[in-house]
Parts: sequence; C-alpha cells; structure tokens
Amino acid sequence: MTDSDTNNALRSIPSMDGLLNAAWAREFSGCLGRKAVKKIIAEALDGLKRDIRRGAQFDLPVDELAPLRAENLLRARAARTLKPVINATGVVVHTNLGRAPLADEAIRAVHEIAGAYNTLEYSPEKGGREGRNAHVEWSLCQITGAEAALAVNNNAAAVLLALSALAAGREVIVSCGELVEIGDSFRIPEILSFSGAKMIAVGCTNVTRISDYRNAITENTALLLKVHPSNYRIAGFVKSASREELAELAASRNLVFMEDLGSGLLCRFDAAFANREQPVRDCLKAGSGIVTFSGDKLLGGPQIGVIAGSKDLLDRMKRHQLLRALRVDKMTLAAFEATLRMYLSGRQGEIPVIRMIELDKPSLLKKARVLCRMLQDTASLETGDFAVSVVETADAVGGGAYPTDLLPGYGVAIRAPSGSAEKLALGLRTARVPVIPGIRDDCVILHVRALLSGDERLIAASFAEAAQALTKR
Ligand SMILES: *Cc1c(COP(=O)(O)O)cnc(C)c1O
Repeated sequence: MTDSDTNNALRSIPSMDGLLNAAWAREFSGCLGRKAVKKIIAEALDGLKRDIRRGAQFDLPVDELAPLRAENLLRARAARTLKPVINATGVVVHTNLGRAPLADEAIRAVHEIAGAYNTLEYSPEKGGREGRNAHVEWSLCQITGAEAALAVNNNAAAVLLALSALAAGREVIVSCGELVEIGDSFRIPEILSFSGAKMIAVGCTNVTRISDYRNAITENTALLLKVHPSNYRIAGFVKSASREELAELAASRNLVFMEDLGSGLLCRFDAAFANREQPVRDCLKAGSGIVTFSGDKLLGGPQIGVIAGSKDLLDRMKRHQLLRALRVDKMTLAAFEATLRMYLSGRQGEIPVIRMIELDKPSLLKKARVLCRMLQDTASLETGDFAVSVVETADAVGGGAYPTDLLPGYGVAIRAPSGSAEKLALGLRTARVPVIPGIRDDCVILHVRALLSGDERLIAASFAEAAQALTKR
C-alpha cells in the first residue's frame, strides 16, 4: 500500500456519530449504555486504523468492515463470559472447566438460599448469632470420624490457615519429595513461607526415611507435614515415611502431624484402582492429627477447603484472624451442606463426579453409540464429508487424583473433510453452546464420560454449527 492508499483507507472509516446511530449500535446501548458503546466502537476503529497503517489486506472495503468489526466487539463485550460449556475432554475434575458439576440437590440448595435471607449466621432457636461453620461441621465429623472440622475458601486456604495457626514462627518438617506445585501457583514452600513457618526440608527427592524427620526435630519444631503429591509421580527407587510412622513420631515428641490430602475422598470407590487413595476417615484413624482437602475434587461439591482433626487444634484455627478473610460464602455453604447430606444418606453415587468416575465400559459404549448416531445424522445433512465413528479413549479423574491411572472409556471421533481437527475443534469451542473436545491423530475426539444428561443433543447442534462454518470457508 502506498501512503495515499493508506490515507484513503483511513478516510473511508465511517464517522463515530454515523456508527452510534446505526440500529445495531442503538440495540447494544440498551444493555451496555451509550457511553460504553461509544468507547467500544472507538476501540474497534482504533484497531482497524492500526491494521490499515500496518498495510493489512482486507476481504471487504474499509467502510463495510468498520461497522462489522464494531458490531463484533460489541457482541463480545455484551455477552456473559462465564457460561456453561460441554466437557467432552474425558477429564472428570477439570480445573479450567470449573471442576465438579454440582448434584441437583446442591443446585436446589443454592437456588433457595441465594435470593433469600437465611440462617447463615443465625440460630432461630437461640434468637441470635451462630457461626456459619455449624452448617457443615457435624456432617463432616460424622463422615470423616474427625472430632472437629472447619470449612474455608479452598484447600490452599485450609493449608495456609492451619500452618499459620499451628506453626507461625516455628519449624515445619517436610520431605523434599513433597515440595510440589499443584495447579496454578499453589507451591508448598511458598505457602509455608507465607504462613510465617520455617520450612525444614528433609530427605531426597526420591527417598525420605522416618529417621530424616527424627534427626531434624529441634525444640523449635511445631509440625510434621505430609503432602499428597497429586499431579506428580516419581517412579523407580522411591521411599517415603508412612502415615503411621509419622503419626507415632509426632505423638512421641508432642508435635502436630498434619497431612494435605489434596482430593478429599470421603468414601471408597468401586473402581479397583481407587483403593490406592485413602479415604479421609482412614487417614485420621491412622494418626493424622489434622488433614486438609478440597471440596470440589473427588468429593464432588463446590469450591471449598476442609480442615478436619482434633478439637484443640481446630479451636486454634477457629480463633485465628485469618479465618475472617478465608470464610465461605452462603451459596457455597448451601451447596456443600447439601452435598454432605448425600454422603450421610449413602447416596453419594448420585453425585456427578462419583457417578462419572464409576461409569463402566458397557454404559460408556452405549452413550458413545447414541452420540455417534446423532452426529452421523447431522454430518449427512451438511455438505462436508465427515467421518464419524466410535473409538476407545483414555479418560482421567483429573484434579490431581490418580495422575497415572487412566480410565478406559469411549468417545466419538470426527475426521473433518479438510483434515483439520484444529479448525473443527475451534468451531466446536466457539459454537453457541461451546463444546470442549479432545484431539488425537488429527481427529476431534468427543469423550462421553463427563457428559451431563441432554448434552448429546446440544453437541449435535454445535457440531452442525461448526461443520457449516467449516465447509463454507
Ligand atoms: C488441589 C490441591 C491443593 C489445592 O487445593 P484447592 O482446593 O485447589 O485450593 C492443595 N494441595 C494438594 C495436595 C492438592 O491436590
């Protein structure tokens, strides 16, 4: 482009007033306000000007492109960004996709509490204040066998509060093999330093013996910490001190033994591999004085962190100032209370996360066949030639639980006519109802394990949308 082309292109951008008065712009003023609409149009025009100056080539003349870009940006800004998606990744506890979808009972509880005054910190019998933790403490104790329990914002907060209350200014002994980073920015050494405790790392990456802990104890030691390695495994020559050994050592030296369990497994699963993970109750019975775990991993509830264990230790946390900053919102507590009641009544199998993990191969195959048939019908209506078939998949629990145990599953593979799985996946992810698939061997794979009831029909619609866009291009 010559300078005069650039100037002509810049001059052909429509005026702000003209755009603001267009029918589509006035529609957006209804939901965003006129001031914001003006700002967003200006932003779109600035972007267009930058592209023109860079010498970008366009499919459309600038005077037609400008309103299109403005309208697209307005649509993006007017839309909700936190919205439901369909999880076709086969990862049940998917942190980026919001971890555990709640059980119907938990959803109803949130719905009831959200728009009403409620007993969050009030006892109608007393006619006065009652702590919010009371809604879940008894159930947690009943299910885990703990003397006392406390719910906070998430497990990271649980670890932070426990260490702050029990070990600030003193030493915490932890194995080098357990100085892990979990998910986004939860690092054991950093949480320890944040709590004001001094970390004493003992042993080696692959081997830590009970004698390593014993030799590190000083008069300033407050706590022995064991951390579930979650998303990380080392293979080969590996040794660590057992829970029982650590509990015994802590008791004999009058120290606290605390365990960060990560995923809160409240009951045993049917799945054979699941027996390698110990339920919270067994950890406490084996001598963990304090355990912490998440509410939205294997437990299948809302985002929450639980600290459970002996009453005198929990009392120190309940009195700690930090608790005020980590306390749990009413909607979350409502969902958690309802989820715990499902465990109490033995109906945990109806909790979505648990149901999905326990799905057997015949049921998954059946689901995959149903989805496959629907997608084949959709594909035949489109002009493109999509190959759609049932395939075996490797699914996962996710959330740091069982990182090396893949769950055998089924899914539907779609091969796009252009051969570009990426493009089809993008189309599915950006459809009106976003579908998040896996990709393998240049095929889009829709794992059926984590689908919720009714998702098949929605996937077919999103596939039609994505397929149309793909064949039009
Ligand atoms: C997941 C996990 C955490 C963090 O829990 P959040 O509930 O996400 O805050 C901490 N420790 C372990 C071992 C974990 O697996």
